[in-house]
Amino acid sequence: MLLADVGASSAHLAVIDLSQRMLARTEVDVAMHDGPEPVLRTVETQLTHLLETMPAEVPVRAVVIGLPGPVDGTHGIPVRPPIMPGWHAYPVAARLSQTFRCPAVLENDVNLRALGEARALPADQVPLLFVKVGTGIGGGLVSREGVLHHGADGAAGDIGHVRVRGAPDDACVCGNVGCIEAVASAGASRGGSAHPGRRSPPSRCARSSHAGTPPRSRPSARPRPHRRARRHPGALLQPRTGDDRRRPLRGERRTAGRRAQRRLPARLPLATRNLVLTNSVLGEYSGLAGAAVLGIERVLSTDSIGQLLAQRA
Ligand SMILES: [Zn+2]
Repeated sequence: MLLADVGASSAHLAVIDLSQRMLARTEVDVAMHDGPEPVLRTVETQLTHLLETMPAEVPVRAVVIGLPGPVDGTHGIPVRPPIMPGWHAYPVAARLSQTFRCPAVLENDVNLRALGEARALPADQVPLLFVKVGTGIGGGLVSREGVLHHGADGAAGDIGHVRVRGAPDDACVCGNVGCIEAVASAGASRGGSAHPGRRSPPSRCARSSHAGTPPRSRPSARPRPHRRARRHPGALLQPRTGDDRRRPLRGERRTAGRRAQRRLPARLPLATRNLVLTNSVLGEYSGLAGAAVLGIERVLSTDSIGQLLAQRA
């Protein structure tokens, strides 16, 4: 199975087997603003190279790719992605399916991270909202059953373009002003709105779940602080920068709790009594983990197994 977790400026690529064993992995630079042709050519070339490094031939049963923008998973196309000029309606899944002669799945990159994170956690630590703060800001929702929540058209959890009350009218890549992404993303922290052509610092991820105990996670390099983000209500879901990743984000939990309680009757703190805001467990590999989940579920689906048996008959 081939996996590609593609961000605005780099892509994690991997070959795995059905037991989730990583057979080969690499990371390559990409520039999403160059358009689909050069980026997908790089992804295809590097995945093919990974396959060639295998000691024996590996049959490819599925390809899963995550992209940093809204996608229509049913048709396998991006839908007007703000930081990906030229990608709208490009047949990403169809192209990869043709290249590798197997089913291909297209998903939003933050949804992949949310799914990977949810499956890495104990079953009682979902539902969760996963927030990625990088060149842009996105969110992914996973239900109590451990399933991605896409909403009616696949945009559920895409919080980056919600208007922040009281924020300055900073222009956002989506064409509006004052979006969370315009005031709190890594691009905004550099003094301007998110720019698709510039490499972002490591993203930080927040998890909120109905969980009593925060999970352990690995320490990681400290990112640059997003000072402007802290001044605005959009920082509600922003992880506190500069913290050791092993610590839960206690400050944010208090903030979320106070704000929720201001809106809810004092005797009904249901929304926040089990709320935990914390960092990612899997870090930069959460996207590949989520892609592995989707790929395995695709290969083991009744449709796929039926097709495989029909081919063998
Ligand atoms: Zn926006």
